[in-house]
Amino acid sequence: MLHFPLTLHPDLLILSEAVVPNEGSKELANLFKFPLTLDGFFLEAHVKLRPVDFATDGLYLCGMAHYPKSINETISQAEAASARAATILSQEALQVGGVIAVVEGERCAACLTCVRVCPYEVPMINAKGEAEIDLAKCKGCGSCAAECPARAIELMHFKDPQLWAKCQALIMDVAA
Ligand code: SF4
Ligand code: SF4
Repeated sequence: MLHFPLTLHPDLLILSEAVVPNEGSKELANLFKFPLTLDGFFLEAHVKLRPVDFATDGLYLCGMAHYPKSINETISQAEAASARAATILSQEALQVGGVIAVVEGERCAACLTCVRVCPYEVPMINAKGEAEIDLAKCKGCGSCAAECPARAIELMHFKDPQLWAKCQALIMDVAA
Protein backbone atom coordinates (compact mmCIF):
# COMPACT_ATOMS: atom_id res chain seq x y z
CA MET A 1 0.00 0.00 0.00
CA LEU A 2 1.18 3.52 -0.78
CA HIS A 3 -0.41 5.29 2.28
CA PHE A 4 -0.73 8.59 0.39
CA PRO A 5 -3.07 9.97 -2.31
CA LEU A 6 -1.98 9.36 -5.86
CA THR A 7 -3.39 11.28 -8.81
CA LEU A 8 -3.00 9.80 -12.29
CA HIS A 9 -3.79 11.39 -15.68
CA PRO A 10 -4.06 8.43 -18.07
CA ASP A 11 -4.84 8.76 -21.75
CA LEU A 12 -7.01 5.65 -21.60
CA LEU A 13 -8.95 3.86 -18.87
CA ILE A 14 -9.63 0.23 -19.80
CA LEU A 15 -12.26 -1.30 -17.55
CA SER A 16 -12.59 -4.58 -19.38
CA GLU A 17 -10.24 -6.45 -21.67
CA ALA A 18 -11.38 -7.52 -25.11
CA VAL A 19 -12.41 -11.14 -25.54
CA VAL A 20 -11.36 -12.44 -28.92
CA PRO A 21 -11.97 -15.85 -30.54
CA ASN A 22 -9.34 -18.54 -30.18
CA GLU A 23 -6.83 -18.63 -33.03
CA GLY A 24 -7.80 -22.23 -33.79
CA SER A 25 -11.52 -21.46 -34.21
CA LYS A 26 -11.29 -20.91 -37.94
CA GLU A 27 -9.40 -24.15 -38.53
CA LEU A 28 -11.92 -26.09 -36.42
CA ALA A 29 -14.80 -24.41 -38.26
CA ASN A 30 -13.34 -25.48 -41.61
CA LEU A 31 -12.85 -29.02 -40.39
CA PHE A 32 -16.38 -29.54 -39.07
CA LYS A 33 -18.20 -27.09 -41.37
CA PHE A 34 -19.19 -24.74 -38.55
CA PRO A 35 -20.33 -21.27 -39.52
CA LEU A 36 -18.61 -18.35 -37.77
CA THR A 37 -19.98 -14.94 -36.85
CA LEU A 38 -18.42 -11.83 -38.37
CA ASP A 39 -16.37 -11.53 -35.17
CA GLY A 40 -15.05 -15.08 -35.56
CA PHE A 41 -17.04 -16.82 -32.81
CA PHE A 42 -18.95 -20.05 -33.46
CA LEU A 43 -22.52 -19.58 -34.69
CA GLU A 44 -25.38 -21.71 -33.39
CA ALA A 45 -27.88 -23.35 -35.76
CA HIS A 46 -30.76 -21.10 -34.63
CA VAL A 47 -30.60 -18.54 -31.85
CA LYS A 48 -34.04 -19.51 -30.44
CA LEU A 49 -34.90 -22.98 -31.75
CA ARG A 50 -31.45 -24.66 -31.55
CA PRO A 51 -29.30 -22.40 -29.33
CA VAL A 52 -26.66 -25.01 -28.38
CA ASP A 53 -26.65 -26.99 -31.65
CA PHE A 54 -24.32 -26.48 -34.55
CA ALA A 55 -25.87 -26.69 -38.00
CA THR A 56 -23.85 -29.90 -38.39
CA ASP A 57 -25.79 -32.76 -36.78
CA GLY A 58 -24.51 -34.23 -33.53
CA LEU A 59 -22.23 -31.33 -32.60
CA TYR A 60 -23.01 -28.83 -29.83
CA LEU A 61 -21.44 -25.70 -28.45
CA CYS A 62 -21.11 -23.81 -25.20
CA GLY A 63 -18.90 -21.28 -23.50
CA MET A 64 -16.63 -18.52 -24.72
CA ALA A 65 -16.12 -20.07 -28.14
CA HIS A 66 -19.72 -19.02 -28.79
CA TYR A 67 -19.42 -15.40 -27.60
CA PRO A 68 -18.12 -13.65 -24.46
CA LYS A 69 -20.35 -14.62 -21.53
CA SER A 70 -20.44 -15.01 -17.74
CA ILE A 71 -19.47 -18.22 -15.96
CA ASN A 72 -23.11 -18.77 -14.91
CA GLU A 73 -24.31 -18.55 -18.48
CA THR A 74 -21.49 -20.83 -19.60
CA ILE A 75 -22.43 -23.49 -17.03
CA SER A 76 -26.13 -23.34 -18.04
CA GLN A 77 -25.18 -23.63 -21.67
CA ALA A 78 -22.82 -26.55 -20.97
CA GLU A 79 -25.64 -28.39 -19.18
CA ALA A 80 -27.93 -27.77 -22.15
CA ALA A 81 -25.27 -28.99 -24.60
CA SER A 82 -24.61 -32.17 -22.61
CA ALA A 83 -28.37 -32.82 -22.39
CA ARG A 84 -28.64 -32.46 -26.17
CA ALA A 85 -25.72 -34.85 -26.67
CA ALA A 86 -27.35 -37.35 -24.28
CA THR A 87 -30.40 -37.54 -26.56
CA ILE A 88 -28.11 -39.12 -29.16
CA LEU A 89 -25.76 -41.09 -26.92
CA SER A 90 -28.67 -42.71 -25.07
CA GLN A 91 -29.97 -44.37 -28.24
CA GLU A 92 -28.86 -47.80 -29.35
CA ALA A 93 -29.31 -46.97 -33.05
CA LEU A 94 -29.93 -43.84 -35.07
CA GLN A 95 -32.11 -43.49 -38.14
CA VAL A 96 -30.91 -41.34 -41.03
CA GLY A 97 -33.16 -39.45 -43.43
CA GLY A 98 -34.36 -41.06 -46.65
CA VAL A 99 -33.01 -38.32 -48.93
CA ILE A 100 -29.47 -39.57 -49.52
CA ALA A 101 -27.16 -39.95 -52.51
CA VAL A 102 -26.43 -43.46 -53.81
CA VAL A 103 -23.62 -44.29 -56.24
CA GLU A 104 -23.98 -46.80 -59.06
CA GLY A 105 -20.40 -48.03 -58.87
CA GLU A 106 -20.24 -49.55 -62.37
CA ARG A 107 -20.91 -46.17 -63.98
CA CYS A 108 -18.37 -44.28 -61.87
CA ALA A 109 -15.33 -42.98 -63.76
CA ALA A 110 -13.52 -41.96 -60.56
CA CYS A 111 -13.28 -38.39 -61.84
CA LEU A 112 -13.41 -37.01 -58.26
CA THR A 113 -16.06 -34.43 -59.12
CA CYS A 114 -18.35 -35.57 -56.32
CA VAL A 115 -15.42 -35.64 -53.91
CA ARG A 116 -14.69 -32.01 -54.75
CA VAL A 117 -18.23 -30.60 -54.79
CA CYS A 118 -19.67 -32.20 -51.67
CA PRO A 119 -19.82 -29.44 -49.04
CA TYR A 120 -19.65 -32.09 -46.28
CA GLU A 121 -16.71 -34.04 -47.73
CA VAL A 122 -18.65 -37.30 -47.72
CA PRO A 123 -17.77 -39.06 -51.03
CA MET A 124 -14.50 -40.94 -51.25
CA ILE A 125 -12.94 -43.28 -53.81
CA ASN A 126 -12.86 -46.82 -52.45
CA ALA A 127 -10.39 -49.65 -53.09
CA LYS A 128 -12.35 -50.67 -56.21
CA GLY A 129 -11.74 -47.23 -57.74
CA GLU A 130 -15.37 -46.22 -57.38
CA ALA A 131 -16.96 -43.35 -55.52
CA GLU A 132 -18.52 -44.37 -52.23
CA ILE A 133 -20.90 -42.33 -50.08
CA ASP A 134 -21.36 -42.96 -46.37
CA LEU A 135 -25.15 -42.85 -46.09
CA ALA A 136 -25.04 -41.87 -42.43
CA LYS A 137 -23.01 -38.74 -43.25
CA CYS A 138 -24.83 -37.68 -46.44
CA LYS A 139 -27.05 -34.61 -45.96
CA GLY A 140 -28.97 -35.14 -49.19
CA CYS A 141 -28.11 -31.76 -50.65
CA GLY A 142 -27.88 -33.30 -54.16
CA SER A 143 -24.78 -31.40 -55.29
CA CYS A 144 -22.90 -34.56 -56.22
CA ALA A 145 -25.85 -36.03 -58.15
CA ALA A 146 -26.23 -32.80 -60.11
CA GLU A 147 -22.53 -32.56 -60.98
CA CYS A 148 -21.60 -36.19 -61.71
CA PRO A 149 -20.66 -36.27 -65.42
CA ALA A 150 -21.30 -40.02 -65.63
CA ARG A 151 -24.73 -39.70 -64.01
CA ALA A 152 -23.62 -42.38 -61.60
CA ILE A 153 -25.23 -40.79 -58.54
CA GLU A 154 -28.91 -40.68 -57.74
CA LEU A 155 -30.57 -38.81 -54.92
CA MET A 156 -33.22 -41.00 -53.36
CA HIS A 157 -36.74 -39.52 -53.68
CA PHE A 158 -35.40 -37.19 -56.38
CA LYS A 159 -34.59 -39.66 -59.15
CA ASP A 160 -34.92 -38.45 -62.75
CA PRO A 161 -38.29 -40.18 -63.39
CA GLN A 162 -39.67 -38.67 -60.18
CA LEU A 163 -38.51 -35.19 -61.15
CA TRP A 164 -39.91 -35.61 -64.66
CA ALA A 165 -43.25 -36.70 -63.25
CA LYS A 166 -43.37 -33.62 -61.03
CA CYS A 167 -42.46 -31.32 -63.94
CA GLN A 168 -45.11 -32.88 -66.17
CA ALA A 169 -47.73 -32.57 -63.43
CA LEU A 170 -46.79 -28.93 -62.97
CA ILE A 171 -46.97 -28.19 -66.72
CA MET A 172 -50.34 -29.91 -67.05
CA ASP A 173 -51.58 -28.04 -64.00
CA VAL A 174 -50.51 -24.70 -65.48
CA ALA A 175 -51.96 -25.59 -68.91
CA ALA A 176 -55.34 -26.66 -67.47
S1 SF4 B 1 -18.68 -37.55 -59.94
FE1 SF4 B 1 -19.60 -39.46 -60.69
S2 SF4 B 1 -18.06 -40.36 -62.04
FE2 SF4 B 1 -17.02 -38.78 -60.83
S3 SF4 B 1 -16.17 -39.91 -59.05
FE3 SF4 B 1 -18.18 -39.15 -58.43
S4 SF4 B 1 -19.62 -40.83 -58.89
FE4 SF4 B 1 -17.72 -41.25 -60.00
S1 SF4 C 1 -25.92 -35.44 -51.55
FE1 SF4 C 1 -24.76 -33.66 -50.82
S2 SF4 C 1 -24.06 -34.29 -48.77
FE2 SF4 C 1 -24.67 -36.17 -49.82
S3 SF4 C 1 -22.76 -36.91 -50.72
FE3 SF4 C 1 -23.82 -35.70 -52.29
S4 SF4 C 1 -22.93 -33.63 -52.11
FE4 SF4 C 1 -22.41 -34.75 -50.23
